[in-house]
Order: sequence, then structure tokens, then C-alpha cells
Amino acid sequence: MNEDDWPFETTFYGEDERFDEAAPAFHFAPAEPPSPDQIGAALHDTFGFSGFRGVQRQVVDRVLHGQSTLAVMPTGAGKSLTYQLPAVLLSGTCVVVSPLIALMHDQLRSATANGIRAATLTSADSDRSATIERFRAGALDLLYIAPERASQPYFRELLSQARIALFAIDEAHCVSEWGHDFRPDYRLLRPLLDAFPQVPRLALTATADHHTRADILTQLGIAADGLIVAGFDRPNIRYAIRPRENALRQIKAVIEENPGPGIVYAPTRTKVEQLAQSLGQATGRRVLPYHAGLDPEVRARNQAAFVASEDMVMVATVAFGMGIDKPDVRFVAHAGIPKSIEAYYQETGRAGRDGDPAVAVMLWGADDFARARQRLSEIEPQRQQSERQRLDALAALVETAQCRRAVLLRHFGEEPPQTCGNCDNCLEPVGVMDVTQLAQKLLSAVYRTGQSYGLGHVEKVLSGIADDRVLQRGHDRLSVFGILADDEKPVLKAVARALQARGSLTPTEHGGLALGGDARAILKSEASVMIVVPPKRERKRRSARDDSANPVNDPLFDALRDLRRELAQEAGVPPYVIFHDSTLREMAAEHPATLADLGRIGGVGTRKLDAYGDAFLNVIRRF
Ligand code: ADP
Ligand code: ZN
Repeated sequence: MNEDDWPFETTFYGEDERFDEAAPAFHFAPAEPPSPDQIGAALHDTFGFSGFRGVQRQVVDRVLHGQSTLAVMPTGAGKSLTYQLPAVLLSGTCVVVSPLIALMHDQLRSATANGIRAATLTSADSDRSATIERFRAGALDLLYIAPERASQPYFRELLSQARIALFAIDEAHCVSEWGHDFRPDYRLLRPLLDAFPQVPRLALTATADHHTRADILTQLGIAADGLIVAGFDRPNIRYAIRPRENALRQIKAVIEENPGPGIVYAPTRTKVEQLAQSLGQATGRRVLPYHAGLDPEVRARNQAAFVASEDMVMVATVAFGMGIDKPDVRFVAHAGIPKSIEAYYQETGRAGRDGDPAVAVMLWGADDFARARQRLSEIEPQRQQSERQRLDALAALVETAQCRRAVLLRHFGEEPPQTCGNCDNCLEPVGVMDVTQLAQKLLSAVYRTGQSYGLGHVEKVLSGIADDRVLQRGHDRLSVFGILADDEKPVLKAVARALQARGSLTPTEHGGLALGGDARAILKSEASVMIVVPPKRERKRRSARDDSANPVNDPLFDALRDLRRELAQEAGVPPYVIFHDSTLREMAAEHPATLADLGRIGGVGTRKLDAYGDAFLNVIRRF
């Protein structure tokens, strides 16, 4: 990006002298912030919402009072509203810095559908000069821009010619090297922000950890008391974590229980391709692959199809998701372990942003952990320690018999209740079994056979099976030969899995097992090993469908969905931009008869009432 793109002839001034004079003329905090009534009216008329959620009110209040703020809010908590509402209420434009064009266009679509005057300034927009005109003329509530463009001198020049109400910095963790997605361009924003000291800054992120938060405050020049952190709980997501027995069969079941759109994460491109094909055949649903190795055109097409769809499944590597703002994703399934608890939280967080029930199912195998631990040895020594801790924390989440949500939230520094009632362990409590003795037998056998054989061989030795290989190596003469009791046989695999997950057994280069981590402590009975015992018979699994989600075989609801689909196609937007499922459900339940009644339904703002009200009323009247 350079000045060549810039559609206007501009004079360039020395950077320092000009803003001191230009800025104060235009930028001042509003003397009188909007009243609660005005705020409530805008919330309802523009967004169709009846109230704030969580910390939204706190954040909006600060912004309206001209106070710079860092809002840490999990995905789905409603970050966009915290700058879009002030953008509507304050005079002047809210300039939104956002890292991805796809993300900006997504936001633009939703904002425009609500009647907000918004535009993006990106290399992908051909109407840039018109946008700049609107901006200068004060005809924009929101202007989205990428950091590399925002930090150019010509943009600063342009800002000094318009009236700026607020700087919103989305995905603000990108400014920090501590964050998981550092973008050097974000570092260039500070001089721009400082050039307009009267304009409040609102930094937004879903990133949890303390280091990153503190760093964002410093980097963006926001006072420490401007930090607002929302809770990390996503109560509508039901977590389940299960050993992987047959990934295809298990994921097929998840898909069949959840008719809405979903994402399946697979660890490699090859697995993505295979799973996409076999899941498509097995379920009859539309299933498409997504990974960085696909032709960019195919990738974009698959992504667009997913965003627009009401029932598609995307099988993807973790490359998929960043920049996808689809609110109605009903399930996220992991075919293998994610990289860390943070990654798990972020990836599962793509489900249920609309607040409707959603499920997150992770399948894990001992080999996932084995591979991850092997990779540890390949990274720089300074990072190994912290990466090992991340993996241990993930293993603890996977192996726990306690509430998953509690473990997850404690990891993020919260103090949640002991049980949540909406995860696998709460819904079908599992038993725990002390298997320290069996673990000792297994570890001894690994040790005595020379720490170079795989589980199959070790299991034979422990079970007293003297096949050729066992005899050749003389392993039938070891003290551990045949020491496994009959009732221990069925749990041996689970114990091996647990030991691999916690690193007491580690893979060797040639596919064997060796002692690692706390193996010695276990052998000396200084550490114990517990495994989770699954419930006796698997009760009928619940799906998102059982709860408050969409009615099945409700002709009115289906007709409303059909209308939404038609309108979406006409407008070239995804259906959820017209109305969310929850809005259609409320219509189907309430049967509003007049435009006024319809306007009281959640999610129906003035603009949408004007645009679609009659069409929806007509359908409702037919029933
Ligand atoms: P985030 O960016 O934090 O992930 P979004 O801004 O995309 O979240 O909002 C998530 C969803 O919540 C959106 O579908 C939005 O329409 C909805 N939402 C946000 N605020 C409210 C509110 N106050 N009342 C009802 N729904 C809301
Ligand atoms: Zn729970």
C-alpha cells in the first residue's frame, strides 16, 4: 500500500507542526453525553436490541464520556456494538482499525443492514474516492481501515480534515508481541492516535492473558483504569471431550445431531480432504474442505458458501476461522487436539456467537499428545518450558473428571462454580479410578524392555504372550512378563493414553515408548495416576436441538426462513444479516400482526422494519 493508491492530490506537511493547530478546531469531547433515553432509543431503533449485554453498558458509557478504554470481551459478547452505538450517537465519524479485509466487509454488511452510514477504505474497494468525499463531508458514522493504511501520513492528513468521534482498534492484541498474532503495523498507530489527543480510543480484543492486556494499554496509550474485562464464560456452548475411537463415526454423529452449520477442525491438509469427502458421503450434508493449500479461489468460494449457508459443514485446518464472523455456527468439532487451551477456547468460541445453544466436541488420542510432545524438542530451548506447560494444561482439561467449563475458566483466572450443568462431565458424571499400580507395571515393562518398543509389544509382554518377537528378545524371561491381571487388560490402553497425555510416556524416534516427565515419581509411588471411567452405558447424547434452538417441523418458522433466504439472495448477503434465527423464532412464537408489534421483536430495528417488515408480516398473516 502506498500513496499511489491514494485517489487524491494532497499536500504533505511536516508531520509535527500541523496537528497542533488543525486538531483542536474539530476534535472535542461532547459537552453533554447522550441521555440514557437517547441511548436506549438508539439501541432499539438501530440494532433492535432491548438492552445491553454484560459489560457493554460500562464500555459504551466510558466511550460516550470521552474516556479511552480497553475492552476484553470473549467472542460473541458483542464487541461491535460498543463502538457502533457511540458511532451512531456521537457527531463525527468513528474510525475503526481492523486487521483483515474480510472482517471489515463483514462488519460493513451488518452495519449497513442496520442503517448505519459505514464504509471501508481498503485496496479491495473501488469506490475509495467517493468514500473519502463522504468522510470529509461528515456523512459517515463508521470508517473501517487497515492499520498499514491508517498509519500513512496521507491518512493523518485526511483525518485532520474531518471530524473524528472515536478511534476503535479492533483485534487490539495484534499490537502486542505477547499476543498470539502480533502485527508490526499496529505499532505504527500510536503516533496517529497521539496526533488527535482529544479523540477517545477504544481497544477491543478477546485475548485473555495479563501480559498482553498490560502491553496493549501501554502500546496504545490507554490508562490502566480504562481496562474492562468481561467474564470468559460462554454459557450457551456445551463442551464435550472424548477419546477418539473412530473419528468418522463420532463426527458423523455430531453432525447428525446438529442440523445447523458447523466447523470440523482437522490437524493436516490431507486429513481435511479425507474427512470432508467421507463426511459428505456419510451424512448427505453439504461438506466442503478449507485449508491453506487450496487454490485461493476455491478457498474463497468455499468460505463464501459456508458464510451464506444454514446447514453446511466446513472441514478445515485452523487457518479457517480468523475473520469469519458467522454468528449461527451450531457446532465445532475437533478431530484432534488443538494447540493449547487458548486455541481451544478461541476455536470452540466460533460456535454460538448468536447466543443460541451450540456444541463443542473434541476427540483426542494418545498419539496427538505424543506428536505434540515430540514437536517440543524441535523448538528453541527458551520456549520449550512454556510450551510444555501449555500442553500439560491441555492434557489436564482433556483428562479431568470435573466440570470442563470450570477448568477452562480457572485457566483464564476466573473463579467459576464447581459445576455448570452444560458440559459432558456435568451432564453424565464420570467416575475416577486410581490406576497407579497398573501404571507402574506399564512403566516398568517399558523400562525393562529397553524403552524402544511400542505399546503393542509391551502389552504382549505384560499379558504373557510369548510370540516370536518376545521370545527372540528374551522378554519372556523378564520379571514383568505376564504380570497383568485379567481385570487390568481392558483399561491398559486408557492408562497408556493418560500416561502419554501427561508426558510420563514419551515417543521415541522410531515409534517406541520411553519414560519421561514424572515416570520415576510414579514408579516410586510418589505420584499417582487417575483415569476417568466413562459412564456405564452411553445415554442418548443431547444435541443443541433439544434446547431453545430452532423448532423442527414448524411450518411458520420454515416459511420465515424461506423468506429470509430469498431476501438474503436478493441482497447478496448471508441470511443472518437479514435476521438472526432467534428473531425468526420470536416471530413464529409471537405472531406479530402489525409493524409496531413486529418492531418490538428482538433484532428488529427501524431500518430492518422498513426494509423487511411488510414481507415478514405477510408470511405471518398466512398462518
Ligand atoms: P464479538 O465481536 O464480540 O464476537 P459481535 O459484536 O459479533 O461479538 O456480537 C455477537 C452477537 O451478539 C451478534 O450477533 C450481535 O447481533 C449480538 N448482540 C450484541 N449485543 C447485543 C445485545 N445488547 N442484545 C442482543 N444481541 C446482541
Ligand atoms: Zn460443567
